[in-house]
Amino acid sequence: MSQACFLRVALPVPLRRLFDYRLPRNLPSHGLRPGMRVQVPFGKRKLIGILASTTTKPELAEDKLKSALQVLDEEPVLQPDILALCEWASRYYHAPLGELFSLAIPATLRQGKPLSTRHRLWRLRPAAADAAEALLSRAPKQKQAWHFLSEHPKGLSEDSLKAFGFATSILSQLEQKGLVEHAEVEEHSTHFEAVDPILKCAPLTLNDEQQHALAAITEETSGFRPALLDGITGSGKTEVYLQAIDHCLQQGQQALVLVPEIGLTPQTINRFHERFNVPVVTLHSGLNDTERHNAWRQGLKEEAGILIGTRSAIFAPLPKLGLIIVDEEHDLSYKQQDSIRYSARDLAVYRARLKGIPVILGSATPSLETYNNASQHRYLHLRLTQRAGNARAPAIELLNIRDAALQDGLSEALLEQIKTHLDQSHQVLVFINRRGFSPTLMCYSCGSVMDCPGCDAHMTLHRNPWKLHCHHCDTRRPVPSSCPDCHSSNLQAVGEGTEKIEETLQQLFPKTPVFRIDRDSTRNRNAMEKILAQVHSTKACIMLGTQMLAKGHHFPRVTLAAMLNMDAGLYSSDYRALERTGQLLTQVAGRSGRADKPGKVVIQTRDQENIALQQLANGSYQEFIPLLLQERQLMQLPPFSFQALIRTEAATPAEGERFLSLIRTILEQQASQLNLNGPEGLQLLGPWPAPMERRQGRYRQQLLLQSVSRQPLHTILNFSLSSIESLPESRKVRWSVDIDPQDMS
Ligand code: ADP
Ligand code: ZN
Ligand code: ZN
Repeated sequence: MSQACFLRVALPVPLRRLFDYRLPRNLPSHGLRPGMRVQVPFGKRKLIGILASTTTKPELAEDKLKSALQVLDEEPVLQPDILALCEWASRYYHAPLGELFSLAIPATLRQGKPLSTRHRLWRLRPAAADAAEALLSRAPKQKQAWHFLSEHPKGLSEDSLKAFGFATSILSQLEQKGLVEHAEVEEHSTHFEAVDPILKCAPLTLNDEQQHALAAITEETSGFRPALLDGITGSGKTEVYLQAIDHCLQQGQQALVLVPEIGLTPQTINRFHERFNVPVVTLHSGLNDTERHNAWRQGLKEEAGILIGTRSAIFAPLPKLGLIIVDEEHDLSYKQQDSIRYSARDLAVYRARLKGIPVILGSATPSLETYNNASQHRYLHLRLTQRAGNARAPAIELLNIRDAALQDGLSEALLEQIKTHLDQSHQVLVFINRRGFSPTLMCYSCGSVMDCPGCDAHMTLHRNPWKLHCHHCDTRRPVPSSCPDCHSSNLQAVGEGTEKIEETLQQLFPKTPVFRIDRDSTRNRNAMEKILAQVHSTKACIMLGTQMLAKGHHFPRVTLAAMLNMDAGLYSSDYRALERTGQLLTQVAGRSGRADKPGKVVIQTRDQENIALQQLANGSYQEFIPLLLQERQLMQLPPFSFQALIRTEAATPAEGERFLSLIRTILEQQASQLNLNGPEGLQLLGPWPAPMERRQGRYRQQLLLQSVSRQPLHTILNFSLSSIESLPESRKVRWSVDIDPQDMS
């Protein structure tokens, strides 16, 4: 007799382990494959998990094991490469495998819905009209539905009938009376390879640098090939992507393109539609569950030739995947900042390795991590140093405002330059890193500032309507008419955000359209597109906004870009702040002078002599970054060391600190047992309060693990996390592990 077989299931629960079950009754074990969904009893609940493997040696005695309830799929919903990617990510990020699998499938599948989206089509059965009328005389709703269907002889899908207000129950009642029938129809599907020709229009003729980059990426020797496409803004990186994708599609393979969260605009998608005849599918957070399901399925069924998506699209199923592109690879939105803190960029490199395919990390301002990998020859370093076409790089001026009188943050000298450019019918872009009207509302009688009740932060003053808003926890309050402390009515807005600058610029340039682009002005669906369309149809105008402006947009008429408040980024205690400031500055500068007109960039600063600023202004990001790298090396900071951050959030500061101290003790004991101490080994720093100690009413503490190589960090966590998880405190305090933390605030 063959040995009994048991299911090892990954469940979406925050426990770092798998769970064993018996086979569901009457189910043979053959045909079971990893990646299929299984429904199981878990405590009092029923959960849907993913079959990770089968085993003949369960962890518990056989009679203690429960039976799985059912296997939901005939085919795995997770392909072997995605299973392997999730398994790797589960080890690397020290996260439960079940939670990773949950990230990798759409909500519809997590809820147990079938993979193939068949619609149900309802249509009338032939019947005499008066007989039907008689049958329905006492059921007005059914009668309505019957009439409605009689106007649609080919039938209607259940979804659209629902949208017209006819519930399935009504249709079933009609069915019982023999008046209607339904059929299940499979969603229409064509394989992307059947599309011919692939190209809709001829590609551009590449310049030498582009040609070299493309050749390196598409080189005949196939295999894993990570490449940094390090190209200044406007140098034609996107054209290289498009031609690399063309090459990939010609080989009968699919391409995956990751873009930052706000980079997925119709402008971006259009460039792909204009070039290719193959279906281009998008996957991003703006879709509803059904849309996500369909996009995901189209990838899996090889209907999509190209899938473009934001962070979580790195898990999209593409059985014929032949190329991965990560555009703006430095962008922070690739790192998830809650639950499983994965980096989609890093997973992209790992997925390409698993598949043995090329991966392109593109940016005008590469992250230090990626740049260092290229410098160490772990990645190809492909440079595009010239703007494509006729465009030239802009001139950068550091405008000293040390003793200048500013009008709401704008110096006289800058205003004059803005006027000159507008007078020439050019467009001007003004960047300020702060949304809202004013970052603070202050009582000028007693000096108190309106703070958020739950956070260590000031509340930002917004208008339309006037309110106070905490950007950290979303608390909103009406603007008080008098000071809560001294009752004086002398409350003043201090400092300026985009809304105030908008007002000032509009007053100073009353005849010029001023467009504000920030999270508030673009909240509604398509709002961004509307603003951009207006900008493109206008001559002289001012665009003013936050970093949303800096990302990927092409404004051919902009000849002046001004940056108002960059200085703060030069002195932050966060060691990554300077890198981010350099990226932002370079990206904003890149918006100026993209077509045939030369561009200019003005940076208002009180620290004109600042070395970093000088470098960025005189040379370029490409010269700034090696110096930043040297500094990080000297200080043994990432990418020259590796970090993991354990965070807690608790009702009192003491609770979090106590838990982290326990963790520290466990880590220290493990480190000495494993011999991981010493200068080359593991360092533990903390516990200490997070820079913003209180957020949303909870106290936040951190413990930092750092080491010069990755291994000790992972070893110690592997050996310690289960003891940490079994501490009773671990269930009282909210805590998380963040590998390669990016944002330590
Ligand atoms: P990036 O992605 O590096 O910002 P793009 O690919 O958007 O650059 O190119 C910037 C502009 O230059 C676009 O209008 C693009 O059509 C044009 N362009 C790119 N490559 C070429 C080329 N080889 N010849 C002519 N124009 C080009
Ligand atoms: Zn006061
Ligand atoms: Zn708050």
